[in-house]
Amino acid sequence: MLNIVIFGAPGSGKGTQSERIVERLGLNHISTGDVLRAEIKNGTELGKTAKGFIDQGLLVPDKLMIDILASVLDSFKDSKGVIFDGFPRTVAQAEELKKMLAARGREVSIMLDLDVPEEELMKRLIRRGQDSGRADDNEETIKKRLSVYHTQTSPLIEWYKNERKYFHIEGHGRLKEITEQIIDAITGRK
Ligand code: ATP
Ligand code: MG
Repeated sequence: MLNIVIFGAPGSGKGTQSERIVERLGLNHISTGDVLRAEIKNGTELGKTAKGFIDQGLLVPDKLMIDILASVLDSFKDSKGVIFDGFPRTVAQAEELKKMLAARGREVSIMLDLDVPEEELMKRLIRRGQDSGRADDNEETIKKRLSVYHTQTSPLIEWYKNERKYFHIEGHGRLKEITEQIIDAITGRK
């Protein structure tokens, strides 16, 4: 069973590419950002807590995210494979994912790093904020999210290199070409 981590800064295209890969390869998709936004929309306690962090551009605490992931993971027991989108975002989350998968006789197959220049990320997120009205896609919060990415999330690049799971994807270019790079990486065509 494939366990794919799709990784990258905010706005790098994790959600977009995940949907395209799900369609092509018939995998399950877990987006922690989507889970949190659904909780907020439904007005749950978890949603209220999460909103306080998200609106400030901060990460939701590891403990909460790990509990969410554990519950989703078991709903995908008989799946062909899973794409983890937006998780892990900290070294603690990566360590926990490794343990959770190991307890189920699984492991991360590959980590795909969608690499996009910072100016392009800013442009995409500002545009997305205008189109979709996502509350965290405003200039001030975007800057905070990018700085949180650099300090808390980007250390995972070295972490996954050490695990021999890291795969670089050129994330600035045509949607279709990026999808092809990803499919090649997953299927080992290259
Ligand atoms: P992309 O545009 O590439 O899909 P993104 O960073 O814009 O990525 P989401 O992945 O949807 O957006 O996450 C939105 C917010 O939800 C994050 O800024 C963070 O506050 C919270 N969040 C999502 N996943 C996690 C996680 N694994 N750990 C902590 N907080 C998280
Ligand atoms: Mg997303």
